[in-house]
Amino acid sequence: MSNDEFKRVYDYICSLPVFSDHEHHRNDEFFLEGMTLDKALNNSYTGWLGFPLDGTWEARERFLDNARFNSYFTWFEKGLQQVHGIDDPITLETWESISKRLQKAYADDPDFHWKVLKENGYDRLVQDSYWNPGDDNGHDEIFVPTFRIDMFMYGYHQDSIGPNDIRPWERCGFIGGSLDDYVEAIRETIRKRYEKGKVVAFKCAEAYNRTVYMLPDDREEAARAFGTHPDNITEEQKLLFGNYIFNRCCELAAELDVPFQVHTGLARLSGSNPMLLEPVIARHQNTRFVLFHSGYPWIGEVGALAHNYKNVLPSITWTATICTSAAIRALEEYIDVAPSINSITWGSDCWVPEDSVGAQLAWRFICAKVISQLMADGRIRARDAEILARKLMYENGRRIYGGFSGKL
Ligand SMILES: [Zn+2]
Repeated sequence: MSNDEFKRVYDYICSLPVFSDHEHHRNDEFFLEGMTLDKALNNSYTGWLGFPLDGTWEARERFLDNARFNSYFTWFEKGLQQVHGIDDPITLETWESISKRLQKAYADDPDFHWKVLKENGYDRLVQDSYWNPGDDNGHDEIFVPTFRIDMFMYGYHQDSIGPNDIRPWERCGFIGGSLDDYVEAIRETIRKRYEKGKVVAFKCAEAYNRTVYMLPDDREEAARAFGTHPDNITEEQKLLFGNYIFNRCCELAAELDVPFQVHTGLARLSGSNPMLLEPVIARHQNTRFVLFHSGYPWIGEVGALAHNYKNVLPSITWTATICTSAAIRALEEYIDVAPSINSITWGSDCWVPEDSVGAQLAWRFICAKVISQLMADGRIRARDAEILARKLMYENGRRIYGGFSGKL
């Protein structure tokens, strides 16, 4: 492949808007409290690398020495440069001046944090406000909410507390009754939001807390667990109860015809292999499962599931910045095996715009790389390259989450 071919495809891709299937964009208050480079980095994926920034020279030095070649950092830096119009790289010498520039941009305009996404090519972003499930951060100009159902899987008792300290009973206005009543309260809560156009998908990220091996219903056990005080419930009972609620959510997603986004791969490593979800996928044929993160590192497993099950949609969300080369492999693989090219999507999965824009640049690069290689190999024609690029950049996302019929 010549550089010219890559460049031609890349330039075309850069002219297109991008649809993101997944974000955790922080709310207005977070940005109003002021931004610095240290804060932006701590709230990007580089913050997960274990070199926290506390504003000191020493912390910055340690951070740069260790993290500067990590894929998260590479794309964050590019995003930062694009968002703030900076040519300089992040070094100890440029740190303060970059930080001041960033501070000023956010202080001058309280809407900067979301407007800048639009200005940098984002079309729409599916927002997962896990701290307030179903919220669009008050910015429906750009965000459409997915509904994080995880908390409901913990609602076995009035006093039980789900992830992010959310009380599930409180969240669905449930004041007591039977297990069936609880399920109905969940359904009502979601349905009401859906009717207002405030739920374009469901999301489950329980891979961070438990295995994604969600067994079929054990209704008897779920009913027994229901009403048990958090001090007395066993881990086994919690899992069984969680399975039961997860299955009900799969049914509701099918009824509402919204896709169900499921975190697979990188979380708790044992228990997040996408193959563990196969029984769920087989059981709920009418539910469309978006398998997130390419199941990284189990990329091929997601490809195989997409190959065998019509209700699997492979998503390269987050993968582009976890590992650029793995995302290239994932995309090439999914283009080959997915029964429908219209099923492949991507999202940045970020909290701050510098990271989101950087991840978007990664995705554009990855698509250009794969598409130009396919052309060079003679596997696709030049005129098909643009069709493919448009699907990957925004058409698939709009179709799957755009509130149309949602059918592929
Ligand atoms: Zn996420």
